[in-house]
Amino acid sequence: MNGGFNVRLDGIDRTIWLVPVAMKGDWPALTKVASMARHHGRDTPTKDDGAGICHLCLGGQRNQPWHDVRHTNMKKLRQGAPLPWKKTPSLLKPLRIPEELQAQFFRVDLFHTCHKGVMADIAANCIVNFYDFQVFVGDCSVDTLCELVYADLKEFCARQSLELNMVALTKTLLGFPKSSSFPTGSWFKGADTTTLLIYLETKVKDELPKIDDNDVSLYFAEAYSAISSANAFLSILYKANFWLTDDEAHIVLAHGRRCLKAFMTLAEWSYEWALTRWKLQPKYHMLGKILYEIATVRAAKARVPNPLAWGTQMDEDFVGRVAAMSRRVHARTLHERTISRYQMALKAQWSR
Ligand SMILES: [Zn+2]
Repeated sequence: MNGGFNVRLDGIDRTIWLVPVAMKGDWPALTKVASMARHHGRDTPTKDDGAGICHLCLGGQRNQPWHDVRHTNMKKLRQGAPLPWKKTPSLLKPLRIPEELQAQFFRVDLFHTCHKGVMADIAANCIVNFYDFQVFVGDCSVDTLCELVYADLKEFCARQSLELNMVALTKTLLGFPKSSSFPTGSWFKGADTTTLLIYLETKVKDELPKIDDNDVSLYFAEAYSAISSANAFLSILYKANFWLTDDEAHIVLAHGRRCLKAFMTLAEWSYEWALTRWKLQPKYHMLGKILYEIATVRAAKARVPNPLAWGTQMDEDFVGRVAAMSRRVHARTLHERTISRYQMALKAQWSR
């Protein structure tokens, strides 16, 4: 690696060196690789003096509320935060990264934070709220709720040419085995979260004028705010390049903050009404962290990288494809045959 790679680009011989600038992965992977002492698994919902839930700050320790994601609090949580490990991770040892930037080497993954986290929970809670308040579906069982919503969703996807991977909507996928459960979006494909949120934005908008009860109407208006801002947030990031323009960064921040605020308001109302809905999970903090970073970099007049760059969506698809190739080879020649099948598939793509 020290000598770099010699390649010919545009007719000129060049040497390219690979420089690791960050590591991305889902939260359990980062926690394992860096042997982190502070991570999502350290949440202590019943007391406020845990080890901390975030490798970048003091959130979750005594008097350090991780769910307060306002900029001032996020800044305070960073101050004096020690490194999240006892021993420097072996991955960092050969790299010359100043100590104060080492924790940030391990990036927050947007895909698991949003599609497999906060945004999936927004969709699941909103669907369960249809059942709670008899909006769209009327008075019915949870199974009927799932059937009605899925049929409507499928029709919507066909009309809008949207991708949908789930073949049914179930209590399990909504993380809703009984009415006292906190719903969580548990479908396998993160891309279904995008589809569900696009569907729900239209659905809730259509249903809002039909709601008679003023409190319920305000509640669903807040759900609409969470959904529409989540959609706008993701849509801008997916259309943007690696460096966000200043306008994009500004709008992304506004939508991201509106989304988190609406989620919090719905959590507070649900709590007041003794409803087990809109639970704040540690990923809520991580989305706050992504926004905090955008705001901080922007305030320093530096260029803001698109947080999508730290997402693992494509990498997970890639691993899935290689895993599929490995299933059809003999265990004894597994490694060699998988690599050769991958090479053939790659060649086939390049020769198209
Ligand atoms: Zn944090």
